[in-house]
Amino acid sequence: MMQATPLHPVDAVVIGSGAGGAPLAARLAEAGLSVVVLEAGAAFDSEDHLADELTTGIYWMEERLSGGSTPTAFGPNNSGTGLGGSTLHWGAFCPRPDARDMQLKTLTGQGEDWPIAHADLSAYIQRVESFIGVAGPAHYPWDTTRHYAYPPPLRNASAQAMQRGCAALGIQATDAPAALVTRSREQPGFGTRSACNNCGACHQGCSNGAKTSMDSTWLPRARAFGALLRSSCRVTDIERDARSRVTGVVYHQNGVEQRQRCAAVFLCAGGIETPRLLLNLGLANGSGQVGRNFMAHVATQVWGEFDADMCMNRGYPSSLISEDQLRPDAAAFVGGYLVQSLGVQPVTLATTLARGAGLWGAALVRTLQRYRRLAGIGINGDCLPQAANRLYLSDETDAFGQRKARIDFSYGTNETALNVHATRTLTSIWQAAGASGIFSAERSAHTLGTCRMGTSREHAVVDPDGRSFDIANLYICDNSTFPSALAANPALTQMALGLRTAERFLATHGLGRTTTA
Ligand SMILES: Cc1cc2nc3c(=O)[nH]c(=O)nc-3n(C[C@H](O)[C@H](O)[C@H](O)COP(=O)(O)OP(=O)(O)OC[C@H]3O[C@@H](n4cnc5c(N)ncnc54)[C@H](O)[C@@H]3O)c2cc1C
Ligand code: SF4
Repeated sequence: MMQATPLHPVDAVVIGSGAGGAPLAARLAEAGLSVVVLEAGAAFDSEDHLADELTTGIYWMEERLSGGSTPTAFGPNNSGTGLGGSTLHWGAFCPRPDARDMQLKTLTGQGEDWPIAHADLSAYIQRVESFIGVAGPAHYPWDTTRHYAYPPPLRNASAQAMQRGCAALGIQATDAPAALVTRSREQPGFGTRSACNNCGACHQGCSNGAKTSMDSTWLPRARAFGALLRSSCRVTDIERDARSRVTGVVYHQNGVEQRQRCAAVFLCAGGIETPRLLLNLGLANGSGQVGRNFMAHVATQVWGEFDADMCMNRGYPSSLISEDQLRPDAAAFVGGYLVQSLGVQPVTLATTLARGAGLWGAALVRTLQRYRRLAGIGINGDCLPQAANRLYLSDETDAFGQRKARIDFSYGTNETALNVHATRTLTSIWQAAGASGIFSAERSAHTLGTCRMGTSREHAVVDPDGRSFDIANLYICDNSTFPSALAANPALTQMALGLRTAERFLATHGLGRTTTA
């Protein structure tokens, strides 16, 4: 058994066990490195997950202050916690990133290019898909070379309505790529993942292992290769020597301060906690870019009422996709958006409508009373980086004495124009599908870009391998490193970056290269 005490330094400490940290930890452990994963949230078994929005413990609910003209909502909307990170309650909608989105600046003069080639990232994406098991259609209209290992889950009523509306307007739509299994699968290190039973509770955690989350896939693999996974461990300090190299981390477990020495740290705490920790510690910010360029996807929804029961609490929520709007004709904006069908549980719907549609009191209650017949569609739209959209530290402190994050986020002209276009498109689809009483709810989703990767130490926090420009043995691997948002939802890309960051580290240090995943 690996020794991992303050007196026995490990090769790598991974802070955070989500879509970035988990694959990375698995790959480093597989290569023979001694790895300790420190995760602030609790460890859950699949059976712990109940289809109950009010009792689940998988949301990061510590206070974050939100400002700007289009402030983004935190809590259940966009951040999770627990062994597995936000993938415990993600929607498992997993489109691949579009090559044009990764070269937006070159192609349009706006936004930022990624410093990684699309082909390079795609090779990792295919390895991730093969390891986690992804369901999708036999024919993917926007990329006919693609194959998914599992047939798609049943379409819920919203998806069937979206299909009708899209067909009437000549918009292509098909079953969405979904990171879940529709046949039972043996997942090494985890056991049996049962087939999706269409319970509809993905956002509250999957109770039968059908949905890919890090605790049913990459973390068991990491453990099988000897990594130590420590839950309920909140990292509060990263220690350095006189040359500013990282020597270890300090964390709190059950109210006790602990220390773990290590040769390298991989900070994978997500798009908010990673920059917040670095700013609190005054680390890795020679560029002044830590916290800058915060991005959230434009995630507007359009709702309407149907004559038949829709029962959107049932069925896999995001079962239909359209990529036709990735580059709409004659658009007044650069980039584009994906359209997806929705299934939203009642409490989440209530908060979305209160925040995004201005519904309060009696009007909100009246709308919610029609829950069975309501259905919605939404988008995931690109967001351009802007220096003024940023995370900084407020004067308030948390239970660990660290200053809380304040995040200012305002749509620029591009997001505003994209939002107008999307609202019009979604409304047309819902009209064509036969909905009445149609209205929109404004929202944004995901937390991206606050420690971006790039090729120059003046403009980026980490290099394309995820290595800090300032501290040679500090790496970042989470949504904070995204240079631009991309229209695709981020988790698949993030898992691919997890593998890539690990392999770039191994290559740089002349360590093991072969892998079975
Ligand atoms: C409700 C919801 C639905 C989503 N749906 C989709 C979807 O359908 N498709 C998609 O592609 N993406 C989706 N996402 C986004 C996706 O989950 C994220 O993009 C992805 O998980 C981000 O990975 P990450 O590694 O950056 O962070 P996370 O997965 O959030 O992991 C960060 C981890 O770090 C831990 N941590 C933070 N601070 C510390 C600390 N100081 N010490 C120790 N640990 C710490 C946190 O507890 C957390 O577990 C969704 C997200 C949410 C919240
Ligand atoms: S709908 Fe399928 S993937 Fe989602 S929680 Fe239910 S069984 Fe799991």
